[in-house]
Amino acid sequence: MFSRNDLFLNQRFKYNHLAGIYIHIPFCKQACFYCDFHFSVNQSYKGEMVDAILRELEIQKDYLGNEVIKTIYFGGGTPSLLSRHELETIQDQIFKFHQVSDVAEITLEANPDDLPYRKLEELRNSGVNRLSIGIQTFDSNTLKMLNRAHSAAEARECLSLAREVGFKNISIDLIYGIPGRNDNLWIEDLQEAMHYRPEHISTYSLTVEPNTVFGRRLRKNEFPEPDEEHSAGQFEIMTEQLKEAGYDHYEISNFCLPGHHSRHNSSYWQQQNYLGTGPGAHSYDGATRQFNISNNGKYMKALSKGVVPFEREVLNQKDKVNEYLLTTLRTQWGADLNRLREEFNIDLLADKGDYIHGLVNSNLVMITNQCLVLTNNGKLLADKISSDLFID
Ligand code: SF4
Repeated sequence: MFSRNDLFLNQRFKYNHLAGIYIHIPFCKQACFYCDFHFSVNQSYKGEMVDAILRELEIQKDYLGNEVIKTIYFGGGTPSLLSRHELETIQDQIFKFHQVSDVAEITLEANPDDLPYRKLEELRNSGVNRLSIGIQTFDSNTLKMLNRAHSAAEARECLSLAREVGFKNISIDLIYGIPGRNDNLWIEDLQEAMHYRPEHISTYSLTVEPNTVFGRRLRKNEFPEPDEEHSAGQFEIMTEQLKEAGYDHYEISNFCLPGHHSRHNSSYWQQQNYLGTGPGAHSYDGATRQFNISNNGKYMKALSKGVVPFEREVLNQKDKVNEYLLTTLRTQWGADLNRLREEFNIDLLADKGDYIHGLVNSNLVMITNQCLVLTNNGKLLADKISSDLFID
């Protein structure tokens, strides 16, 4: 059911532009065995990379027109590897070229091993008001198995210290569906996470991507394929436990205490405009998507010549509608049937009425306030349902 806040949020998404800026920091201390994000473990040229990002921010200063920036997100890679000076220089550049809201959400992804008290103080003093911490699990053996750079003790300590320093908006990442980890171990992770009462929890069902250590081990039969039923079972445990603890399940993989949804990610899911800078970053201006090259050397070389190396995809009506369905159906606000009619001239109930009524009768979707919303059962089939609703 929608609360008044949810309805307000849905209206706000509809009528306000929430432009955001994403900065990709493509460095990590070591490669986690499951990760296929864009990063390098060679940090020797981090300063040059920051210079290139500063240049890109200048070149792209008009990309968002005059929209007020409501969210800034440092992602990666590992942005907590930035020095205070590097972080502040990037923020200064953003403030130089954009009007940034006084209440902008400024998020920085961080790993527990980078968060001693002093660093946390620096982050807080440099304007970061939301931390997204890559905890993943509180179990030492599993952290080693995933090749995370931090220990379970560091995971616990940084959460306590972040509160002490005064962070009031903390998100943590957790991974479930890891082969060999039974439900009890997952429940222990959830219980421990809830003990710290983070405002936001992002969860990730382990998948094995080809270009990762786990992918290579899988091909050599040295690592098992994650089991879908095992993951689905742990997804259900998670949704029940977090709901009981007062968390809103506002997006399939994301939970928050009331009012603490990620404004940055929510703007992606609602097709708001954003500028992504750094190698591998994406941008969206309502009509096109841009994809920066995912190669640190080529990215920096191009920027040294004043060129942003990206590919651009022009979105047609079909792309926009299908993206809208794919992303909004993952959220608790669902796909707004009126918006589909008004903005895209699509009457989904007329075009896919039989299929939608079948989903309603099977308790997979509900229609609330002219929005198509997945039920808990439907969330397990989100990708299939949205692709069945795609327009041709
Ligand atoms: S720290 Fe994050 S980005 Fe870096 S390898 Fe690990 S999961 Fe990937």
